[in-house]
Amino acid sequence: MTMFTRIRSHLCKAALAAALGMALCAAPASAQEAHLLRIGTGGLLGVYYPVGNALAGGITLALGPDILAVAQSSGGSVVNIRSLLDHELEAGLAQADVALRALNGQGSFAGETGGERLRAIASLYPERLQIVVRRDSGIRSVRDFRGKTVSLDETGSGTLEVMRLVLEANAISEKDFDPVYLKPEFTTDRLTAGSVHGVCLVAGTPTQAFAGILGEDALLVPIDSETARRINRLHPALVPGVIPEGTYPGVPETLTVEVHALLLVTADMDEAMAYALTRAIWNEKTRALLRDAHPLARSIAMESATRGLSVPLHPGALRFYREQGLSPAGGSAP
Ligand code: GLU
Repeated sequence: MTMFTRIRSHLCKAALAAALGMALCAAPASAQEAHLLRIGTGGLLGVYYPVGNALAGGITLALGPDILAVAQSSGGSVVNIRSLLDHELEAGLAQADVALRALNGQGSFAGETGGERLRAIASLYPERLQIVVRRDSGIRSVRDFRGKTVSLDETGSGTLEVMRLVLEANAISEKDFDPVYLKPEFTTDRLTAGSVHGVCLVAGTPTQAFAGILGEDALLVPIDSETARRINRLHPALVPGVIPEGTYPGVPETLTVEVHALLLVTADMDEAMAYALTRAIWNEKTRALLRDAHPLARSIAMESATRGLSVPLHPGALRFYREQGLSPAGGSAP
């Protein structure tokens, strides 16, 4: 049994056990075990974490007590995908561009196998590159990073992947400035104190990490549309985007790049389980939990769940969306 980690629970439903494709009822009736469905998220101040927590709550309400879903904090997209492929997670949130490179064994996944097993359950919301800098740093474009101290997020994050593409598109290398590889929870205080000039994060907006920082003393650095289009030509899942005016009080509209946040599993997940999981994340209770979890969650809608997918839908998810009258663009698993 590699799909799920066993934990103790009280009940066992043979039907769900069958759907899970595993011998769930092998243990004695008095000490039945539920299965832990671990969802990889991101840092504590990002959006993956609260969204992942809401999804976990909804899944557990719908599929418990046999399934207990939990959101785990993590480094972000790259590490979530690797953990999924290594069976250390059952589901994970990841940027569509990172998922695409993993699927094709490209970029930081070059030479790694298994990415072709990635499958999507849903596309959730747009994530936007946010480069937050101190107003007094003088940084007004990525080219101004030269000689400054800028945090690019940690190894294993999708942010670092995107920032490396953005640096390349601006003909800047990490040797030209002083890069810091930490999550916002470890860098926003330093930004406020002045020992870090900028902090980067690809996340849904608004992002808790930056609320209260942006405005008087800090601003958002844009990615001009020409650079965004150039990145898009090489990395189709990354598209020119915008952080709308008012996302943060007093901050004007800012051009950037954006990418869909996907909920991923692997092809190893049983079709019936993927179907049950997909149905669970789109039921009313889960939607209510999402709405309470984060302001952007109000825009998470089943109608757009198959847009912006960069990996095939899991056949169980595909069946669910077809039943709902959607004609998924993501196609079925090969
Ligand atoms: N997109 C980010 C990453 O993959 C995580 C964003 C978040 O935590 O909301 O590193």
